[in-house]
Amino acid sequence: MDFLQEQLEDLKQSGLYRSLKEVASPQGTTAVIDGRKVLQFSSNNYLGLAQHPRLKAAVREAVEQYGVGSGSSRLVCGNLDLNRQLEDRVAQLKKKDAALLYSTGYMANLGVITALTGEGDVILSDEFNHASIIDACRLSRAQTRVYPHTRMDALETVLADAKGYKRKLIVTDGIFSMDGDIAPLPDLVRLAEKHECLLMVDDAHATGVLGPNGGGTGDHFGLSEKIAISMGTFGKALGGFGAFVAGERKLRELQINCSRPFIFTTGLPASVIAGAIAALEVVDEEPELRARLRDNANFLRQGIEGLGFTVAGGETQIIPLLVGDALRTMEMSSLLLEEGVFIQGIRPPSVPEGTSRLRITVTAAHSQGELAFALEALQKAGRKVGII
Ligand code: PMP
Repeated sequence: MDFLQEQLEDLKQSGLYRSLKEVASPQGTTAVIDGRKVLQFSSNNYLGLAQHPRLKAAVREAVEQYGVGSGSSRLVCGNLDLNRQLEDRVAQLKKKDAALLYSTGYMANLGVITALTGEGDVILSDEFNHASIIDACRLSRAQTRVYPHTRMDALETVLADAKGYKRKLIVTDGIFSMDGDIAPLPDLVRLAEKHECLLMVDDAHATGVLGPNGGGTGDHFGLSEKIAISMGTFGKALGGFGAFVAGERKLRELQINCSRPFIFTTGLPASVIAGAIAALEVVDEEPELRARLRDNANFLRQGIEGLGFTVAGGETQIIPLLVGDALRTMEMSSLLLEEGVFIQGIRPPSVPEGTSRLRITVTAAHSQGELAFALEALQKAGRKVGII
């Protein structure tokens, strides 16, 4: 297996080698990494719900009542009643008729896209869509046309050209995971209607965050009803684990019959489902968490720009500090860790060549003091690396 060593060396030379950092602490605004306590600015636990007492209690109670594992696929050993409760709640949040749970967002994207499209169909996909959407498009065997990031004129040109297909699907991230900008939903809705396309939004990063009810990108623009396929996850703002696809009842039925990542996998444990139900209750009852997240994001974004860094456009809790070179990005990330702040560097293939960045994520749980500490550390590290 010597060739593996060569491959790994190549990755190291180009600054693209990845390794796991050991964390010995709960999800929160601090983390114990390699034995040191540092501030956490890389987590998607946007509302701090991973530590919310109500979620913890719901999970504990479900373990007592139902035990640990779910036993099998939902189609094989029976469908645990809690699934339906959570699906109904999700459907309500997303203003849809029905929803179907998945083990992960990755599987949800694979499942719904491959169930919906195949040979003879076309998928129009934003170039910065999440890797799971890209993989789903490949697996679907549909033609995939990738349009430049959020460029609606380019999408319109591709659409005008896309004749003779059976089904047409436009798919986009709601909040883009590595760029933190929001998809131009009103234009996407208009184009989908004009060209008779289905519209799918991956709201992994917007569910629980955007909109007056935390319903996501649709809720933010008042257009939830116009999204035919609304995907979201429980592993980010909702503090837990798992995912869903919401849409028409027929869409749920189709996935139960044709979505391999749904059919051929073990159902979520009751504890995970109960945690997600509690998370949706908190999203509904504690809108102040969303407001605090917005305030923290604005404060940190403005602070970082004020230090002279280049921050990619956007207005959300994902703040991409552009460095460019992969090695330099990782150097900056290491310096920050030495200063006591964990901010992960993001490199190709997660982002395009030459656009490596620090992906800073802020949460509602960060204090003013923690935000100020992060700004100071960024200033020191940025000066040492020579990007400010
Ligand atoms: N879609 C997007 C936009 C994501 O950022 C992610 C997670 N990184 C996923 C889907 C996958 O979700 P999960 O982590 O639940 O598999």
